[in-house]
Amino acid sequence: MTVITKWSSELTTLSRVELLEKIRAQINERRFAHVLRVEEKALELAQDKNVNLEKVSLVALCHDYAKDRPDEEMIARIKAGDYDQEMLKFGSAIWHGDVGAELVSEELGINDAEILNAIRLHTVGASEMSLLDKIIYVADYTEAGRDFPGVEEARQIAAVDLDEAVSFATKHTLQHLIETNQKIYPKTLTTYNRWVAKL
Ligand code: GDP
Ligand code: FE
Ligand code: FE
Repeated sequence: MTVITKWSSELTTLSRVELLEKIRAQINERRFAHVLRVEEKALELAQDKNVNLEKVSLVALCHDYAKDRPDEEMIARIKAGDYDQEMLKFGSAIWHGDVGAELVSEELGINDAEILNAIRLHTVGASEMSLLDKIIYVADYTEAGRDFPGVEEARQIAAVDLDEAVSFATKHTLQHLIETNQKIYPKTLTTYNRWVAKL
């Protein structure tokens, strides 16, 4: 299994130990363990694909950076920044991708556009998704610690067809949201229409 122990200096000048310490300081222990498992799954999915493994590793490690920030700070940032203000009707589940990209840039100094974009859309997806975007979206859903009905099927699909896995994850997330009467963020529906719905 590939392990990235050092990133090229255009992406970050932090060592792995330094970066992990900064991330660990932001999120709870359970989530930190999740982030490491997402990295492992993402690198596994990236094998034999034409994608930059250093970016895969960095996106995975940084994707939930904002998840434990206080709601008030997230709200203030959304109001002050160039964000879809519709987000304010939702919660941290929706905010932490977009706000996370901003914080990772500001606080970790990671500014690569592809990395930040994959962080931004890791929860809700998008109609246009790069290979990096898809890998993170699917790795987040199928990492070894996930335990929900259907996760094993999701893992099997992910191992053979990443687009099918994006579709599976999107469909099942939406199904779960509807079954539990949760509000659907419009971008989640956009993702559904592109990756799940038949023409
Ligand atoms: P995590 O950050 O590793 O827990 O994973 P994600 O970032 O993928 O998801 C965070 C949460 O957002 C999950 O519980 C999803 O079910 C939820 N979520 C995804 N799309 C939507 C949506 O459209 N509306 C709402 N209310 N929640 C959503
Ligand atoms: Fe997340
Ligand atoms: Fe996650």
